[in-house]
Amino acid sequence: MGEGLVEVGDCRAESCASTRLCLLLVGWELRGCWGFWLAFFLRYSIDTHTDVFCVINRLGLITEMDMISKRAQAVDTSGIRRVFELAAALKDPINLSIGQPDFGAFPEVKAAARAAVDEDRSAYTLSQGIPQLRQKLRQKLGIENDDLDVLVTAGVSGGLLLSYLCLLDPGDEILIPDPFFCIYRDMAYMVNAVPTYYSVYPDFKLSAERIEASITSKTKAIIVNTPANPTGYACSQEELDEVVELARAKDLYLLYDEIYDVFCYDSKHPSCLHDYDKAVALNGFSKSAGVPGWRMGYVAAHRELLDAMIKLQQYTIVCANSIGQWAMLEAIDHDFSSLLADYRKKRDFIAEGLSGKYEFVQPGGAFYVFPKAPGGKGQEFVERCIEKNLLVVPGHVFSEHDTHFRISFSASLDVLERGVEVLRSLA
Ligand code: PMP
Repeated sequence: MGEGLVEVGDCRAESCASTRLCLLLVGWELRGCWGFWLAFFLRYSIDTHTDVFCVINRLGLITEMDMISKRAQAVDTSGIRRVFELAAALKDPINLSIGQPDFGAFPEVKAAARAAVDEDRSAYTLSQGIPQLRQKLRQKLGIENDDLDVLVTAGVSGGLLLSYLCLLDPGDEILIPDPFFCIYRDMAYMVNAVPTYYSVYPDFKLSAERIEASITSKTKAIIVNTPANPTGYACSQEELDEVVELARAKDLYLLYDEIYDVFCYDSKHPSCLHDYDKAVALNGFSKSAGVPGWRMGYVAAHRELLDAMIKLQQYTIVCANSIGQWAMLEAIDHDFSSLLADYRKKRDFIAEGLSGKYEFVQPGGAFYVFPKAPGGKGQEFVERCIEKNLLVVPGHVFSEHDTHFRISFSASLDVLERGVEVLRSLA
C-alpha cells in the first residue's frame, strides 16, 4: 500500500524524482494505519480535483529546486564553477583562462559611443537594428538582394538563442562539434532540443565525413565554428564547402559561428552565407572590437528564418543596445592588421613554448590552444596548474571528454612567458 502513494497523479510531482522518492519513503514509513489514511487523503484529493501539487507542497515534500524548470536544471555549470572556486583562492594568478581579447574598445568606437550618449540615442531601436548599421553590415557581407538580410543581436549568444528558438522544436537534434563552445550544448537543453556531437578529435579538422556519420532523422541543424573555441582550429574553404554540400544534401540548417573571423593567422577566413539558402552566419564585435560586455552581434540569414528571429527578438531582448549600435558603425571599418600581427606573435610564442613538451595542434586562429593534458585528465592537470598559480581551463568544460585543457593566449607577452614557464615545469 505504501508504494501506492507514488502514483499520485500530478505531473509536476510525477516528473520530479526527489518528490517521488520522498513519497515512497513516507509511504513505506507509514505503511500501517497512518499510511492508509495518508493514501486515502491524497487519493481523495485527486478525486475531488483538488490541486494535488498544493497538497504535496503543503506536506513539505517539494523543495524549491523542484519548482525550477527541467530546462534550467538540465544546464550544469558545476564544472566551470569548480574551476572558478579554485581560482578564487589565487592572488594575482597567471591568467591564461580568459576568453576575451586583451585590448579594449578602439578610440573611434569610444568616441562614437560618447556622442551617441550625448545625442540621447537612448530610445528602443527597431528590433532588427538601426538601418545605418544594418546597411553597413549588408555591405560588409556582400548582401545585395532582399532574400538575405541582417539582424543586430545581443552578441553572438543572442543570435544563437534566436536561431535555436526558431529552428528547434522539442526533441529535434542539433549537431555540434566536440569539443565545442559550451553554450551550444546547454542552449539545446534550454529549448528542450537534443545536442548530438561530431567529434573533431584528435586533429580538430572539420570533416564532412565525420559529421555525416552523426546525422540522424531528427537532426535539424549543424553548427560549424571556425576559427574554433577551444581548439583554435581554422578550417579551409574546401573543408567548409564539403560541409555545405552535406547540409544541402540532407536539407539541414548550417549555423556558422564566425565570431573569431579576424583572428586568422595563416589563411583566409572561409565563408558560406552566399552558397546555401539554409546557411546562417553568426558574428559579432565581442572579440574583433574588444567590446564583449557591450553585447553586440549580428545574424545574417535568408528572409523566412530572419523574420522569425526578428519576431522573437521583439518579444524577448527587444533590441540590441542602442548606444552600442551607433558605436559599432565605427568598429566595422577598423583596420585590424596591427592587432592581428600582435596576436600572431602571441600564437607563435605559446606554440614555441609548448613544443617538445606538449601534444597539441598548432592553432590557425582564435586565441586558444587545446593541448593534451599530461596524465590524460584535464581536471587533475588544471588543479596542478592552479597549485602553481596558473589558471587554464579543463577540457570537460568544452567537451564530453576531459583529456585536454584550454590555454588562452589573449594576454600580454609577459604573462604568456610566466605561463609557459609553469607549463614547461609541469609537463
Ligand atoms: N561563439 C564562440 C565560439 C565564442 O567563443 C563566444 C564567446 N566566448 C561566443 C560565441 C559568444 O560571444 P558573444 O560575446 O558575442 O555573445
